[in-house]
Amino acid sequence: MATDPKDSIVLREHLNKFQRQIGCPVCGSGDWGVHGPVAIPILDREDGQLSLGMQAMPIMVLRCKVCSFLRQFAWEPIRDKAKGG
Ligand SMILES: [Zn+2]
Repeated sequence: MATDPKDSIVLREHLNKFQRQIGCPVCGSGDWGVHGPVAIPILDREDGQLSLGMQAMPIMVLRCKVCSFLRQFAWEPIRDKAKGG
């Protein structure tokens, strides 16, 4: 599923609040593509064993357009703040 352009704008505005250029730690580029939201599973810990739980955390992913390095941001707090929450 393609990223909603509105979500991409919300994430970029969130990052712009910090007024820092996010450089890629691998290649030094600052050219990022926005992808998501996607979900990462939250692991359950039962009897010392890790297993896939039924919960997931939505994240937005920045992908370096030069070397494909990935950065992740928890999406719910950013989205909720943009909605005024
Ligand atoms: Zn890179």
